Amino acid sequence: MFVKGLKCRECGKEYPDSPLYVCDYCFGPLEVDYDYDKIKQKMTVEKIKSREPNMWRYQELLPIKGEIKIGKNVGYTPLVKAGNLAKALGVKEIYVKNDAVNFPTLSFKDRVVSVAIAKAREFGFKVVACASTGNLANSVAALAASSGYESFVFIPSNLEIGKVLGTLIYDTNLVKINGSYDKVNRLCTEIAGKHSWAFVNINLRPYYAEGSKSLTFEMLEQLGFKAPDNIVVPMAGGSLITKVGKAIDEFDYCGLLKEKPHVKIFGAQATGCNPITATVKEKREFIKPVRTPDTIAKSLAIGNPADGYYASDLMNKTGGYGEDATDEEIVEGMKLLASTEGIFTETAGGVTVAVAKKLIEKGYINKNETTVLAITGNGLKTLEAINGKLKEAPVIEANLEEFEGVLAKIKGKINFKLY
Ligand SMILES: *Cc1c(COP(=O)(O)O)cnc(C)c1O
Ligand SMILES: [Zn+2]
Repeated sequence: MFVKGLKCRECGKEYPDSPLYVCDYCFGPLEVDYDYDKIKQKMTVEKIKSREPNMWRYQELLPIKGEIKIGKNVGYTPLVKAGNLAKALGVKEIYVKNDAVNFPTLSFKDRVVSVAIAKAREFGFKVVACASTGNLANSVAALAASSGYESFVFIPSNLEIGKVLGTLIYDTNLVKINGSYDKVNRLCTEIAGKHSWAFVNINLRPYYAEGSKSLTFEMLEQLGFKAPDNIVVPMAGGSLITKVGKAIDEFDYCGLLKEKPHVKIFGAQATGCNPITATVKEKREFIKPVRTPDTIAKSLAIGNPADGYYASDLMNKTGGYGEDATDEEIVEGMKLLASTEGIFTETAGGVTVAVAKKLIEKGYINKNETTVLAITGNGLKTLEAINGKLKEAPVIEANLEEFEGVLAKIKGKINFKLY
């Protein structure tokens, strides 16, 4: 393992490799610090390519000691060249990093939870827990089940049924809380102070966040160890997007990229909960929390984002931008990705597609460049968002005549591309 310990992102104070998350000196967030010069010597493209197709093929840059036992099959999701979508949006090249099919729970959260539970095991915790907007709940419950951990999962009481049942099925202890995610998170911080549980996104947050770097490592490898010009990333607490930046810097520093990267990083939120994109748009230095988030993109509905400031700083520094999408635009985004590429994403993916479309239209994304969209969750989990918003299916008796009647009605409207 190449971890040196934890380091404060603000004042640089160093801490041992341990379940700490805030600097006791300046209250800044702690981050995992590695011995990069040693990694640079050990990690090569050949070594990476020789390993199993999962997130652990970049193990030197992940904070785990010894043999990988948890989340062994997570990651290495497809990078889809989205030619039809590119055409629809009028740009040269778009790729979709498709974590809608990540194993085991169909969202990118399996990456962060694998690292967090492995770390909980190293630290000797007996119970794992989380405060979640839905996908993290699914992932903690599933990976706790498969690794033999007791788990407690806390969610806002208004989540989609797919996210609720997709958590309960793993026989976890699920607690629904009346109120927004920010209330859930506040309660969990208190619980973490009283019970010594591994809250993956609270006291193990520095380690949890490292897991999301694997999405970007894979993307860079899948592009032939090259970086794209633009990446569009959905934001909730703002952790994933900041780790997109860190992952690119690390691959660059370790000499794993064929060319110097120049990536503009764009963040996407829902208009009904846009504390980070509003900060970028209004050129502010601080985040104004959204008190009552109101959007169908519930997985992104964090009103007071822990990494919001760093996310907005990253967008500004890289020449990216932040943009948001309304509920109608989110549904249109989901439909556009499905009808062009055959990929069914959840509302968060609809946010990403809708925001990419706006950024292209407004000229923030150059039409002659290569753009990757981070599609982070699966549409089967948010059926409520599209129920009643798609074309109605005709119901007929099982006879040819009735079908011919249906066909006659729709014939003029169908474009039989392959006939
Ligand atoms: C959690 C989540 C994100 C982003 O999370 P951050 O808190 O910003 O790291 C993006 N998409 C989906 C589907 C998620 O569940
Ligand atoms: Zn500090």
